[in-house]
Amino acid sequence: MSEGEISKVLRRIDGRGYKAYKDLAGASELVNGIEVRVTRVQGDPFAPPSVVECRFGKVLPAYFVQDDRLIAVADFLHRRLASLLPKLSLRGVGEGGSGKLSMPHPSPIIIPRSAVEARRKGDVVEFTVRLWAGLPSRRRRILGDDALEMLLERIPKAVSLAVEELSGDNNRLRRHVETWIEQQYIRRTLPKLRLVAFVGDGSILPRKCGGCWEPLDNAVPFESPSSLRVEIELPTGRTIAGMGLPRGLIVIAGPAFHGKTTLAEAIASGVWNHIPGDGRELVVTDESAFYVSSENGRWVSCVDVSSLILSLPGGRSTSCFSTVDASGATSLAASIQEAVEAGAQVIIVDEDEAASNMIHRDHWAEAVTGKRTLNPLSDVAPSMKNEGLSVVIVASGAVPLLAEADSIIVMDEYRARDATNYRFEAKKALKAMGYERGPPYKRPRVRRVVKPLYVEKVKVKGRMIEGKALRDRVDLRPLKQLEEEPQVHTAVRAALAIASKGGVAIAGEAQRLSEMLWKWDYRAITKTPGPDLAYVRPMDIAFVVNRLPGLEASII
Ligand code: ADP
Ligand code: MG
Repeated sequence: MSEGEISKVLRRIDGRGYKAYKDLAGASELVNGIEVRVTRVQGDPFAPPSVVECRFGKVLPAYFVQDDRLIAVADFLHRRLASLLPKLSLRGVGEGGSGKLSMPHPSPIIIPRSAVEARRKGDVVEFTVRLWAGLPSRRRRILGDDALEMLLERIPKAVSLAVEELSGDNNRLRRHVETWIEQQYIRRTLPKLRLVAFVGDGSILPRKCGGCWEPLDNAVPFESPSSLRVEIELPTGRTIAGMGLPRGLIVIAGPAFHGKTTLAEAIASGVWNHIPGDGRELVVTDESAFYVSSENGRWVSCVDVSSLILSLPGGRSTSCFSTVDASGATSLAASIQEAVEAGAQVIIVDEDEAASNMIHRDHWAEAVTGKRTLNPLSDVAPSMKNEGLSVVIVASGAVPLLAEADSIIVMDEYRARDATNYRFEAKKALKAMGYERGPPYKRPRVRRVVKPLYVEKVKVKGRMIEGKALRDRVDLRPLKQLEEEPQVHTAVRAALAIASKGGVAIAGEAQRLSEMLWKWDYRAITKTPGPDLAYVRPMDIAFVVNRLPGLEASII
């Protein structure tokens, strides 16, 4: 593309009908060392905005460029730009989204996102910034001068202002990168300490409201019980202390409304690194930890749930279980197996969102029905350890779980207490009852997509997916660990890419796509990324694949 192309096109199409904006697609222009390019053009002033890419190089202090620290640098730049862009929008011009500049606002986690990419090229860091721009018009006539001001003045100005802050003596940037380094280090240290999660002393776990990102004011800061306290010396020079959750079976117990779910949610969110000020900067979890819950009515295709479900009506298969309408118990069993298949080494379950018959065994119920059809977590979770899996389960009173727990944490008045010793009493009680555990846990085998799904017209609306090709809508709210819409959007796009290919192994392909996302590579998903894509894990992608109604899988 030659220089000055955007100005030329705009001069030519000024005053013409809106559709003539299409001529801007692919046009670029160099402004103060920033290459501005229009990559997607909206068809109408009221349609979703156009996408503009800015590319530029910058030399950064070596400290910011080492290892994977550029992810934190890009995240920092993204946050600056997301708040600057609306301020630099053109006000009072035209109709619809005319003149608006924006980017998705990031949640408090630091991950690679398409809004800002940063790559090392020799001594220079090459940045790509993507943003939304509402190309301006009045009565659907192109406002060429306004478009010129947006694209060639305001956008480069926003980028230059944000980039000015990428300097070695910016303490906020330094802290941002430092917190990333610390969390990455803690996560890498977990296996050496044989831990699945670390919850730092002083952490603020609760949020301001359900679904809020901000920490709760005046919360009781977390403090580790002394028996579980571990110290970690960080590469940044300081030593921190907090609760180490050992591998195996971890039961979080305690009275109602005393902070159990809050702790489990913080641990679930600890798979991501959090920004300074979030309160959970020192809550770090094994990155494969996956939160599962019951999902009445979900689609399931050929999942081996035989170690969790002992029998189904009419002798229906449990080793290749399929249904268009799962129950609370069967959906939970399928979700656990799918998560393990996709690489989860830690399963997080909260009694608040799990069918009780899949958590506890009830002898009275068995006596009434005369049947034992489920092998609930109370029975099977202890043997998951033998398969290298850990389970973090919120269950207020479950003797069979307590008896085999590797740690029992009681939340009482928002304070954690180590009640692991209680397991001896639980063991005694079980023995007195003559409790007989069900069969041990069995890992699922991997599956592949049997035949491709036609996915052209599938739409994501908030956390719902719908589309002609799908037999039903899919509710992604249970994909709880995804913090922001771009993650949901990306998980869906990646899942559709997998579903539309017959024969591929779901877990393997999800892994491959997730690795690409970590490196800001969106080619498997789209040719022209907007600013609304973000990193998700293989388990997150597989989660969506497995719930696409109509998708048929088979065991390889
Ligand atoms: P449980 O799962 O034990 O029933 P929750 O985790 O749902 O309890 O917590 C109950 C309430 O207490 C929530 O409104 C939550 O925000 C609040 N809460 C949790 N932890 C703390 C804390 N450390 N300080 C203050 N409030 C808290
Ligand atoms: Mg709860």
